[in-house]
Amino acid sequence: MQSIYKALNTENKFAVIGAGPAGLSGARALKECGIDFDGFEMGVDVGGLWNINNPQSTVYESAHLISSKTTTEFKDFPMPEGTPDYPGQAQMREYFIAFAKQYGLYAHYFFNTGVNKIEPQGDKWAVTLSDGNVYLYKGVVIANGTLSEPNIPEFKGHFDGEIMHSAAYKNAEIFAGKRVLVIGAGNSGCDIVVDAVHRAKKVDISVRRGYYFVPKYIFGKPSDTVGGAIKLPRLLKQMVDNKLLKWFTGDPVKFGFPKPDYKIYESHPVINTLILHHIGQGDVKVQSDIDRFEGKKVWFKDGSFEEYDLIMLSTGYKLHYPFIDKKYLNWQHLSPELYLNIFHPEYDNLFVLGMIEAVGIGWEGRYEQAKLMATYIKSLSESKAYARRFKERKKGKNPDMSGGYNYLKLSRMSYYVHKDTYRNIVKKEISQLEK
Ligand SMILES: Cc1cc2nc3c(=O)[nH]c(=O)nc-3n(C[C@H](O)[C@H](O)[C@H](O)COP(=O)(O)OP(=O)(O)OC[C@H]3O[C@@H](n4cnc5c(N)ncnc54)[C@H](O)[C@@H]3O)c2cc1C
Repeated sequence: MQSIYKALNTENKFAVIGAGPAGLSGARALKECGIDFDGFEMGVDVGGLWNINNPQSTVYESAHLISSKTTTEFKDFPMPEGTPDYPGQAQMREYFIAFAKQYGLYAHYFFNTGVNKIEPQGDKWAVTLSDGNVYLYKGVVIANGTLSEPNIPEFKGHFDGEIMHSAAYKNAEIFAGKRVLVIGAGNSGCDIVVDAVHRAKKVDISVRRGYYFVPKYIFGKPSDTVGGAIKLPRLLKQMVDNKLLKWFTGDPVKFGFPKPDYKIYESHPVINTLILHHIGQGDVKVQSDIDRFEGKKVWFKDGSFEEYDLIMLSTGYKLHYPFIDKKYLNWQHLSPELYLNIFHPEYDNLFVLGMIEAVGIGWEGRYEQAKLMATYIKSLSESKAYARRFKERKKGKNPDMSGGYNYLKLSRMSYYVHKDTYRNIVKKEISQLEK
């Protein structure tokens, strides 16, 4: 391990980890605030998980946005004319390449360069790269994504067929002629079921709980753009949208799913109705929760069993920051406890971007996080009164970012926020810090 940081004069710079939507947002915001930085990306190019060539990418060939383009795009950098409402992963990769060029971000990034370790050293951070070199940085911006580390549940028994997680799934060829069981009906799970229908010998999906299935279009418009101007109170919105869904997609219970034991928007909805279509055609069967494996048999909790060749675990992802000791990230229970999901209570030179999930938060919501971070760094360096007060406030409890929704107590929901509530708080803080 060499230490050449002094020669490279990194001590006055921030290090940004990751060149996905959040890392690029961070890079752009730092640049706009005149803060010097280097970016490190373990993959071959920008785009994060939207660049299917990146080793940690968890998109598959058929992946498309589930939020529509106008809801998702950066406000100052719209997607090119002619982009469909829900572009695919290859178009998203091109979009991020164009974004990085537009804002002059390539010059700052080192590709094929992972960050293996960061730890505090005095008032700086020692950053160890995948080539073994260690550099001392003024601060670190962590933007390594939230959807790359597979969550793998434990099952009783042993399965003699093939088991894989959707993190490794790329295309439907693997299903040819096989009896397939997808476990979990999140957005990836449902996409994969639809892919598998066209190649597999048989496709089942096993679920533990009920889901709300939202169509991509309502009244011929992307569903997340309908009713945007009308802001209903939470309870009324839950009632109206639940009714609308029943009209448009029917009751998922009639398709074999359990009745959800939570209200709509208390978990991330599934933006996919093709799966219901295929269940209706008899192409897919819904199975109950897994009881145990036995050879190629899978026993379900309702007492039935079926045989399969391939099990696809679509069981989600875990927050994963392998390069930093949990104690430096203020981990509490399910996730790091950070003010507005960004700010460390004590360190003023350690930030996390992209540790956020919300319906329709989009790239702009991620850029606003970055802008708040960069404005804070700048404003604190100028010793502005509001920044000094913010520094004290971030040591305390978070404001209510739930919008009043009672989110499911799951690890993937532990960093979930209500989009409008969260964005309003962030925008207000930016405007105060900018004064
Ligand atoms: C199938 C699918 C569909 C989705 N659809 C939508 C959608 O419609 N709308 C939406 O808003 N979101 C969607 N998402 C969520 C997705 O997480 C975000 O779109 C977005 O990619 C998050 O950006 P990010 O920069 O936080 O993380 P990522 O895109 O995961 O980027 C993180 C980057 O950090 C790099 N990295 C990781 N560790 C290191 C390290 N140690 N050193 C250096 N580099 C590192 C990775 O290589 C990666 O390039 C979807 C996700 C999936 C999987």
